[in-house]
Amino acid sequence: MPINSQYYSDAKSVEADLAAFMQAIIRIPSLSSCEAAVIERIQVEMLRVGFDEVSIDPMGNLLGRIGSGPIVIAFDGHADTVDTGDLSLWERDPHSGDIENGILYGRGASDQKGGIAAAVYAGAVLKKTGMPDNVTFYVTATVQEEDCDGLCWQFIVNELGLRPDLVVITEPTSLRIYRGQRGRMEMEVHTSGVSCHGSAPERGVNAVYKMAGIIADIEKLNEKLAPREPLGKGTVTVSEIRSTSPSLCAVADGCTIHLDRRLTVGETEATAVAEILALPSVRAAEASVTVLDYAVPSHTGLTYPTRKYYPSWDTPEDDPAVSSAKTAYRAAFGSEPETGFWTFSTNGVAIAGMHGIPCIGFGPGHEHFAHAPNEQVEIEHLVRSTAFYTAMVKTLAGQHGE
Ligand SMILES: [Zn+2]
Repeated sequence: MPINSQYYSDAKSVEADLAAFMQAIIRIPSLSSCEAAVIERIQVEMLRVGFDEVSIDPMGNLLGRIGSGPIVIAFDGHADTVDTGDLSLWERDPHSGDIENGILYGRGASDQKGGIAAAVYAGAVLKKTGMPDNVTFYVTATVQEEDCDGLCWQFIVNELGLRPDLVVITEPTSLRIYRGQRGRMEMEVHTSGVSCHGSAPERGVNAVYKMAGIIADIEKLNEKLAPREPLGKGTVTVSEIRSTSPSLCAVADGCTIHLDRRLTVGETEATAVAEILALPSVRAAEASVTVLDYAVPSHTGLTYPTRKYYPSWDTPEDDPAVSSAKTAYRAAFGSEPETGFWTFSTNGVAIAGMHGIPCIGFGPGHEHFAHAPNEQVEIEHLVRSTAFYTAMVKTLAGQHGE
């Protein structure tokens, strides 16, 4: 079905530049904490298409602004990507940026340089067609998301004092409107024993044996976690185990397991820790539970420590942010949108989960290409995201009494 909206034709008119920009940023590798070069390239493009102000904060996040009205809308995309993984699984160079039959290939194509490119070009279109007077429009190209989701937005809200009225997360949604995700956290459980010579284990207390019951209880706990609408079921899994002993010929005096816990509605850091501490095996072993910290320097050298707790969030279906997104979608494409939730985690854990700032998601590409070989995105998705973002800005401007 042909799309006849002005939003779509405006976006279509910048397709060539949008695609070329996307190729350029795909060709710049940008692992977490190594985003300097790609941030600089995005900054160049923002200035080229006419952003009013472009700055890099002390953490290394790039913030581009157009307009200075009272309604503040930010379009957020993280500029870092995960590594390429096994190169033999890729059919092309992961940084080729090749375009073939309308599909652009490379690490970051879906997760999620396409969202940044489309948002920058929404800025370009709005600059040309007229940014509404009552809007301040931001595009944030943020850092370290793959390593510590949301940390960049803890910094932006707490240290820069920027608190938008709405943030559109541009992670891949297959052009659907997303309104939340499960949260997550990382914990360690530790048991202590007493080492002795391995030839007479009865003299010691083996920390690994103490952990065995705990592992079994955690496996059962995962099955018992109840689903809760709208995010489904939380999960817990053991992702690593390690132990210590004075020698390989000794009884282990320490054992630690690492837990990946996904959190649904109503599950928090406190409830998840309490649940582990309440396991009979944990009590019997007098095991300790620790929530881990993240303290890795960003590409500018700034360390901004945080706990590895990433709260869930969900924006209600009847929230004004979701209604506006649906209105914008209809205006851009002349059809009904689908809504949904991410399986993975996004910067929304801080924006909505910690700070309570209204969030919705809309982005080019598909979640199943994230972190996978042969990652790709349809050029048409980039164009449509640009159309949606411009429609979203105009919709929010109109709703606020223009
Ligand atoms: Zn992502």
